[in-house]
Amino acid sequence: MSQIVIAKFGGTSVANSDAMNNSANVVLSNPDVRVVVLSASAGVTNLLVDLANGCNPDLRTDKIAQIRAIQYQILDTLPGSDVVREEIDRMLENITTLSEAASLATSEALTDELVSHGELMSTLLFVELLRSRSVNAEWFDVRRVMKTDDRFGKAEPEVEALSSLSEQHLAPRISSGALVITQGFIGSEGKGRTTTLGRGGSDYTAALLGEALNAKRVDIWTDVPGIYTTDPRIVPNAQRIDEIGFEEAAEMATFGAKILHPATLIPAVRRGIPVFVGSSKDVAAGGTLVCDKTTNPPLFRALALRRKQTLLTLHSLNMLHARGFLAKIFSILANHHISVDLITTSEVSIALTLDTAGSSTCGASLLTSALLTELSSLCRVEVEEDLALVALIGNQLAQARGVGKEVFGVLEPFNIRMISYGASSHNLCLLVPGSDAEHVVKTLHRNLFE
Ligand code: ADP
Ligand code: ASP
Ligand code: MG
Repeated sequence: MSQIVIAKFGGTSVANSDAMNNSANVVLSNPDVRVVVLSASAGVTNLLVDLANGCNPDLRTDKIAQIRAIQYQILDTLPGSDVVREEIDRMLENITTLSEAASLATSEALTDELVSHGELMSTLLFVELLRSRSVNAEWFDVRRVMKTDDRFGKAEPEVEALSSLSEQHLAPRISSGALVITQGFIGSEGKGRTTTLGRGGSDYTAALLGEALNAKRVDIWTDVPGIYTTDPRIVPNAQRIDEIGFEEAAEMATFGAKILHPATLIPAVRRGIPVFVGSSKDVAAGGTLVCDKTTNPPLFRALALRRKQTLLTLHSLNMLHARGFLAKIFSILANHHISVDLITTSEVSIALTLDTAGSSTCGASLLTSALLTELSSLCRVEVEEDLALVALIGNQLAQARGVGKEVFGVLEPFNIRMISYGASSHNLCLLVPGSDAEHVVKTLHRNLFE
């Protein structure tokens, strides 16, 4: 394993010049950090997604002005920044042209091209800031190595290509002593068009680069000093977890703990690369280490919450004593690139949940009329929206006694629409009305963790 560390900074860590300076301090405090992956400055991706979904001219002008203000606040603090100013202005011009095109006709390819400007701009500014501090920083366009399929909005990286291209283009730069600054979240497909890995995808980029470059660790710097027993925004009493196993953390990410993009741990697990999560504003506060093995993993580890879930209930008398009905349903879902989270079955019906927007960059609903029409040709379909998935993450949950009583005993006041328990010893999932979600998380946290 090489000695390098990949450091990733999220939107709030590059939101303005103070945040960028803190992040630069973090990078410079560890000489092993040789590759830095950045998100767009906080707020910029959301503004770009709005533009990509089409805006009237006034709104367009207003949103572009907001993006310009965020980037100029940083630019204006950099000495002798004429060259980068020209580049940022050129990017803002591109954004204007592309968002005019998007107001005539939106497309997923156009969305990804437009949205990629957030990461392109934040990395340009960060390189300039580091150079102003006499650091040998080099801007690198990650699209040269992050090859993906052409599923715009949620593209899948090609791991082999990434590995050989990183060896070819990144390794020599690192060996020459440069500090490489590159973009999270974006990639490019076979024809060279820009793709994105889905919202929050910069964590995934960092882990993929860690795998490709055989890093000794991936550091995810964000706005909280580590992974907590639940989102501290929901439960201020949540406690930091100092060390957590890959499997538990992967379950947390999959089931909505926004702190890590759901796919982040896949490359880390493949290579056994530890992932550290900490706050770029408060390095001294420490953080969480996600690694292969932990000592005495507890029965109850954390609670995750994923909002905007849809429940599909599919009824068909043909299911009675039939074979292959589920196969047909799942092949339709697979053709629509939908991954099912929870599933329960009865004699003549099945219920399954899906993530309504599926975290794709454009934010469109996965529940398209084409999908409903196809399913309706096989069975009667009922749709319930605005639900939330609460996942209790732990260890040996399926083997322990009394888990059901401990969990459900305190949830008496709530309607629990669906339960999934037993598929993994690491989780117990509940589907609840969206409006009850935070209350359920608070109640469970109080009883199981405080
Ligand atoms: P970044 O822009 O740095 O990627 P995110 O907003 O994507 O940051 O993720 C950090 C946020 O994740 C935190 O501010 C916190 O509200 C949220 N979060 C959700 N679940 C957890 C958890 N279990 N522990 C810590 N933070 C969590
Ligand atoms: N900028 C992208 C987003 O806001 C990617 C990321 O932050 O990880 O989703
Ligand atoms: Mg994030």
